[in-house]
Amino acid sequence: MQIHSAEFVISNTDVGKCPKDPIPEYAFIGRSNVGKSSLINMITNRKGLAKTSGTPGKTQLINHFRMDNRWFLVDLPGYGYARVSKKQRKGFQKLITDYFEKRKQLVCAFVLIDLRLEPQKTDLEFMYWLGTNSIPFTIVFTKADKLKPAAVSRKTGEYLQKLTEDAWEEAPPHIVTSAQNGTGKDELLGYIEHINQQ
Ligand code: GDP
Repeated sequence: MQIHSAEFVISNTDVGKCPKDPIPEYAFIGRSNVGKSSLINMITNRKGLAKTSGTPGKTQLINHFRMDNRWFLVDLPGYGYARVSKKQRKGFQKLITDYFEKRKQLVCAFVLIDLRLEPQKTDLEFMYWLGTNSIPFTIVFTKADKLKPAAVSRKTGEYLQKLTEDAWEEAPPHIVTSAQNGTGKDELLGYIEHINQQ
């Protein structure tokens, strides 16, 4: 699948004001600096669609983009940035939990994970929360170009193993990507297309 039209629709701090169109929705979320904006720009072939982070942790908006008039791509705020106040962090959390609890058109959340880092508590807790709330999600490993292929396989294996040891009977689906060299683009778009056709 190629995306022919990618159109920014609206930014919100209130889930109730998100678009009402009855089309499937896919949300992208991860820790600040994980490479979310770069990934969104890569899959949509638009350099500046999502803003790459000059000031990590500052964007606290739910951003809706309409893809080929068929589905929404949602860019959610980055979490886990250390240099925000407790109050700001609470605000984020509320926005994010509100979104996942209320947004019925959500089909799948893509949780972005930087493969180079050891599993981070905030990511693991967030995924457990999604699981507990029966919100379908898929892990998208980012920045694969920074590791050799063998290290990518080893690291993904270790990560998924950690999840199954800690909480899951079965590891969630995962996709390995690089915004730098386009790895995973076809797989990710094919994955969305496949779900949309079901
Ligand atoms: P965001 O905060 O999650 O939106 O992350 P950004 O997309 O702004 O990326 C954070 C940093 O990681 C930037 O310096 C990017 O150039 C870099 N980056 C993002 N994706 C990749 C990637 O696939 N490979 C490499 N090598 N660097 C990346």
